[in-house]
Amino acid sequence: TVPMEYYYSQVINSTHTLELANRKRANATFVILARNSDLDSTVRSVREMEDRFNRRHGYPFVLLNDEPFTEEFKRRLNAVASGEVFYGQVPKEHWVQPDWVDEDRATKGREQLVADNVIYGGSVSYRNMCRFNSGFFFHHPLLQSFRWYWRIEPDVHFHCDVNFDPFLFMQDRGKVYGFTITMYEFDKTIPTLWETVKEFTKLHPEHVAKDNALGFMSDDGGETYNRCHFWSNFEIADMNFWRGPAYQDFFAFLDSKGGFYYERWGDAPVHSIAAGLFAHRDQIHFFEEIGYEHNPYTHCPKDPGMWERGKCGCDPARSFDYDGYSCMRQWDKFVGN
Ligand code: GDP
Ligand code: MN
Repeated sequence: TVPMEYYYSQVINSTHTLELANRKRANATFVILARNSDLDSTVRSVREMEDRFNRRHGYPFVLLNDEPFTEEFKRRLNAVASGEVFYGQVPKEHWVQPDWVDEDRATKGREQLVADNVIYGGSVSYRNMCRFNSGFFFHHPLLQSFRWYWRIEPDVHFHCDVNFDPFLFMQDRGKVYGFTITMYEFDKTIPTLWETVKEFTKLHPEHVAKDNALGFMSDDGGETYNRCHFWSNFEIADMNFWRGPAYQDFFAFLDSKGGFYYERWGDAPVHSIAAGLFAHRDQIHFFEEIGYEHNPYTHCPKDPGMWERGKCGCDPARSFDYDGYSCMRQWDKFVGN
């Protein structure tokens, strides 16, 4: 009889590995920030990403953590990824609350948000994470050689086959920022953010793009923020945009105000407002065809053709897009749909 190895090698030696090696790829990587305790949920996210997209592309993964990853973590991740996996530790100065932050004021800010029942209101580590994702991840040594990234989190789901390469799409079309879910931010987490943004654009009008997406984020010409933002647990974006002068000046200015700690500014509104102001409106892209879920919300393609082509496992009738809390109506109106 033929040994089992024969059947295994049939699969391994089929077009797959050859195809991966010759595949045209963008200068891109997945980025995942995770704790060692996120092991199972990170493996599940990567497994789904591989099944729905990456097994046909072999893009690498960059895993970042404020602590060293365990050997067990690496072993489990290496087993599911088709591309190379790089593991990195976040340098302290990109993570911990800076010394110049007034701790009394930060404590009062946290107590206030706890009293207001705001999620993660009392958490310092959540604030570290938001500040890191806002201002530092793209400076990490492991990401220096990459331009494009797709952010993934533990415990997310990809509900449809991705039958195209979103990185090449972004690159070919000159896009800067891609999203699947947009919604309102809790006002309690960002009481002074918009005032700070306005202060910045007065100081640096040269950074504001001419055909920007301000109209998506403000209903009164920029006077007030309507709190619409892109949900940043999913992002496909250009790190050169974050590394460029406009965003670098913007983040330094926001950071100097201490709002990441005195309030609870999230990387989602910070990235969104920056993309909305410093990029051309056409450079922001809604990836309708990418079915995506991060508890408690799912984006499922409504277009029947897309849904079928993607062999989507999600129910389009339950898509978050036109939920009362979603900003998709706002987006449609803005882009003229
Ligand atoms: P939520 O999506 O806003 O509810 O926040 P999550 O708990 O999902 O955190 C967002 C991302 O940051 C996830 O990828 C987490 O794994 C990661 N993260 C959050 N806090 C920490 C932390 O203290 N250390 C590390 N290494 N990762 C964190
Ligand atoms: Mn999350």
